[in-house]
Amino acid sequence: MSAPGIAIIGAGIGGLTAALAFARQGIEAHVYEQAPQLGEVGAGLSLSPNAVKGMWFLGLKDRLAELADEPPVQVTRHYQTGEILIRVDRGDTTERYGAFEVEQLVQAWPSGNCQSDRVVVEAPLPGAAVRSPLVVSGRARGGWFFEGEVWLRLLDRDRNVLARGFASARAEWMTPGFVAFEGALEYPRRSGPRRGILVVRRNNPSDDRSLDQALEIPVVLE
Ligand SMILES: Cc1cc2nc3c(=O)[nH]c(=O)nc-3n(C[C@H](O)[C@H](O)[C@H](O)COP(=O)(O)OP(=O)(O)OC[C@H]3O[C@@H](n4cnc5c(N)ncnc54)[C@H](O)[C@@H]3O)c2cc1C
Repeated sequence: MSAPGIAIIGAGIGGLTAALAFARQGIEAHVYEQAPQLGEVGAGLSLSPNAVKGMWFLGLKDRLAELADEPPVQVTRHYQTGEILIRVDRGDTTERYGAFEVEQLVQAWPSGNCQSDRVVVEAPLPGAAVRSPLVVSGRARGGWFFEGEVWLRLLDRDRNVLARGFASARAEWMTPGFVAFEGALEYPRRSGPRRGILVVRRNNPSDDRSLDQALEIPVVLE
């Protein structure tokens, strides 16, 4: 007698997890989804240690380690001001629960590409998968430029520098208004963890570090 067919209605995390669990047991399941395409919804994704254990069980440990961060602290910020409202120490999570907490598997909050009165990065957007050369474009106040350039840095998840360079103003930059910029960073192909951070930084030639300003965009390095 042939095995009964299994139909799973809905390709959410529940449906896909069930399909993967069946597949690991050698059981074929068909997933039916009503949405024309799957996409990210919401402002980011955190996984509690029990969910992380579930992903390990499903054989996703290495893939998770590539894409995720294990945060020492978790903070909740005010959506407009960035003020920290809640701060939770996560440093002992593995010791307490046997698995770490995952934070920002995909970090793509809607306003994460700008500091509203200073700089807007149009590409890449937070959470984007990027390739070398990484083309960076956006606009910043004229005060962010020096000699027509703003700084670009690409860091790995441990904040080691993978690439450094500049983005150039595409119009007259001696203005208090916004000026479009564009630049590109070439970085070496990676085999390890692929989380990266693009830093777009004010080109501050003075010794006054209080004038430093920067925007960080999390990316996935292809
Ligand atoms: C803004 C936001 C942020 C969140 N952040 C987190 C987080 O950080 N960490 C976390 O663990 N959880 C988070 N959650 C909760 C988490 O997203 C849900 O608990 C989880 O996605 C539920 O998964 P599910 O598979 O049960 O359902 P769903 O993801 O809702 O999937 C159900 C699927 O079934 C499809 N479907 C429905 N009816 C039919 C039908 N008749 N035929 C075919 N397809 C159908 C739907 O289109 C959908 O794709 C968040 C939720 C939201 C809204």
